[in-house]
Amino acid sequence: MRAFLYDQPASRVIFGVGALDRLAEEVGRLGARRALVLTTPRQRGNADKAAHHLGNVAVGIYAEAVMHVPIETARAAREVATRLEADCCVAVGGGSTIGLGKAIALESAVAIVAVPTTYAGSEMTPIYGLTDGGLKRTGRDRKVLPRTVLYDPALTVTLPPRISGPSGLNAIAHCVEALYAPDANPIISLLAAEGIRALARSLPIVVTEPAQLEARADALYGAWLAGTALGATTMSLHHKLCHTLGGAFNLTHADVHAVVLPHAAAFNREAASEAMRVAADALGARDAAQGLFDLAVRLGAPIALKDIGMPADGLDRAARLATENPYANPRPIEYAGVRQLIDDAYHGTRPE
Ligand code: NAD
Repeated sequence: MRAFLYDQPASRVIFGVGALDRLAEEVGRLGARRALVLTTPRQRGNADKAAHHLGNVAVGIYAEAVMHVPIETARAAREVATRLEADCCVAVGGGSTIGLGKAIALESAVAIVAVPTTYAGSEMTPIYGLTDGGLKRTGRDRKVLPRTVLYDPALTVTLPPRISGPSGLNAIAHCVEALYAPDANPIISLLAAEGIRALARSLPIVVTEPAQLEARADALYGAWLAGTALGATTMSLHHKLCHTLGGAFNLTHADVHAVVLPHAAAFNREAASEAMRVAADALGARDAAQGLFDLAVRLGAPIALKDIGMPADGLDRAARLATENPYANPRPIEYAGVRQLIDDAYHGTRPE
């Protein structure tokens, strides 16, 4: 066995239907007395529910979270948190909402309690992102890691199939890249494989029967494992490419992941053959890249960049941006290979 480092910060996880009912108790357990509830405009209803559970510990609701945490939104939310003297942020939502909580925690002592309602996995990571002038900057800081995470599958039944599928593939992407990460370790690889298994078996049910709580719970369990894998390892070409494409062409985060993942897996197929064997097994497929593509098709997720807003004249620029700075990847990064990958993803070709 290869030598490894395992240094995983712990967070407390409450998992199960009705977990939200434990919110007040969990916030109290952290010693917090003034909680600001965060969410997106569309999820205001869930924030109201959270505030109701908190009673007079809830000092306000800020329902303005948007994707990629624009610095203006972060500043406005920080001001509200300061004005209300919040000592805790309860983030009820997907990666955008939890990201806003992290932006507040980065510059203050507030504790985050996360209630994730998508499969993005941000709640399990010390990674934050802020977008300033169209450029997204990410960093790692343990102070932004949520202290407590309440996973309540009942809150995810409203996530439409159109978002559930790509969001689940976003989670699978964390697992796939964790398996071949330069700092992979055997514990996280177990979690990553189990995460793929749970998501691959549950997502087809989630998109056809969105209210099926067993499948929702299974998918959320997979998302938890995937988020843990993301937080514990260094991501490679796939995440770099999605970050670049999403930022430069303003594409929806989870959709880009859904489209690019099979092609990133095909790109790394030979260079990370053991990781790909594990991923293929967990998918129940002969080949990981093809299995991921077929799963995306089955979920009705987007499979081509051209269908999610990528301009045809942006492919060269995307390949340049993705290759100009060096980063870890099993197969060496070079322009021609990445340009071909982007071309395949643009057209939605099934990996051979
Ligand atoms: P999101 O949070 O933007 O949510 C997508 C949409 O789904 C939103 O309109 C939201 O209101 C809606 N929604 C969420 N939950 C719902 C529910 N249960 N029912 C109905 N509608 C619901 O999208 P996301 O994919 O979860 O997060 C993407 C963002 O998170 C990106 O900015 C990405 O960079 C970031 N992210 C960060 C990390 C990290 O570790 N820092 C990890 C993953 C993603």
